[in-house]
Amino acid sequence: MANILAVAIPQRGALGPASYELLGAGRVLADALKLPLNAAVVGANAKALAADIGARGAEKTYAVEHPSLANFTEEAYAKAVAAAVAAAGATRVILPSSVAGRALAARLAVLLKAGLATDVTEILPDGKVRRGYFSGNLVAEIEFKTPVAVLTVAPMTFPRAEAKGAANVQDVSFDPGAAKSEFVSFAAEASREIDLGAAEKVVAGGFGLGGPDGFKAVFDLAHALGAAVGASRRAVDSGWIPYRHQVGLTGRMVRPKLYIAVGISGQIQHLAGMSNAGTIVAINTDKDCPLMQMASIAVQGEYAELLPSSPPRSRTARATPSPPSAHRPQRLRSVPSRGPAVRFVQDGERDGHVLRGRSGLTLADHPSRLANL
Ligand SMILES: Cc1cc2nc3c(=O)[nH]c(=O)nc-3n(C[C@H](O)[C@H](O)[C@H](O)COP(=O)(O)OP(=O)(O)OC[C@H]3O[C@@H](n4cnc5c(N)ncnc54)[C@H](O)[C@@H]3O)c2cc1C
Repeated sequence: MANILAVAIPQRGALGPASYELLGAGRVLADALKLPLNAAVVGANAKALAADIGARGAEKTYAVEHPSLANFTEEAYAKAVAAAVAAAGATRVILPSSVAGRALAARLAVLLKAGLATDVTEILPDGKVRRGYFSGNLVAEIEFKTPVAVLTVAPMTFPRAEAKGAANVQDVSFDPGAAKSEFVSFAAEASREIDLGAAEKVVAGGFGLGGPDGFKAVFDLAHALGAAVGASRRAVDSGWIPYRHQVGLTGRMVRPKLYIAVGISGQIQHLAGMSNAGTIVAINTDKDCPLMQMASIAVQGEYAELLPSSPPRSRTARATPSPPSAHRPQRLRSVPSRGPAVRFVQDGERDGHVLRGRSGLTLADHPSRLANL
């Protein structure tokens, strides 16, 4: 019988809470199509992980366990997921929109001769799905014409399914066959940073920080808020922060509840990675730059005055203004400059809030206020 299969992909042998969003998305699709929802886990320790994932609303949970799955390779994992799809007789396969999930989805779609939709943000009552293009300026509605379809769901989009019963786990045998690719090595980052892709809050810095030292203020605010740290490509290309922090078209896609952009102009390639954030706070000297124009809260001012641990800035360290962009979202009115005072405006309705620079309030003094946005 046709059914939905939500496939969890362990990272280094463990499943994160983001996996529970796959069951959340699966439930929406299963209800829309009136089909059963099943789950699958692949990996070298899949059986041990199956009980957790399967208890979150799946009728059956397929565990594909094999030593060849100890490390992620697209080739082996695609074959393993295909084995789970065959065992389940699944007609819709849900994967995460992570780097691994998207790579896997493409291979799997070829193996299964299936339709493919990536970065799905909405599942409609008739089973069609929606995804955005061009920073969300264009939304496509996708109807699958193939018997089997593969979709990856955008992070932080669907609810995390709660554990509510025992899992019904079924083992699936799997023959990896001769591999054309081989896992060589894994180097873990020695860091306690919060993963950008799954972060509920992100503080991101750009070229307006003036140099690598400026990121100290960004990291301090992120730690105070329990947020992940993001960056623009110009800051990354300048060597101020590693690439893994880059948000945008050629970096990570994020969908946090709160995105604070410090010294980022908001060129369209950056917006492509973060425009679906819930509340966007922009801190910038240029009230007319695209990010200030689209932000829910636009704070015009020198970042060094607003983030207290910022390094002193010399005039020569200042960033050059970016070229004007054609991207001008209409949502916000501009914020007038009032010398050292900084105006704090949300959708033109909260003119009463004035944050002051050195002498007065700063954003970093108020992590709880930001956390509650
Ligand atoms: C194919 C392609 C892919 C790309 N992919 C990405 C991508 O994935 N992600 C990405 O980010 N970019 C990407 N880019 C680059 C993108 O076009 C922009 O160049 C980049 O996003 C600009 O980074 P920025 O906003 O930090 O720098 P700028 O555009 O230089 O903006 C700096 C901002 O800081 C402000 N500022 C200056 N001084 C201060 C201060 N003291 N306090 C507060 N604010 C201050 C300025 O007013 C300005 O708005 C891509 C470009 C191409 C062509």
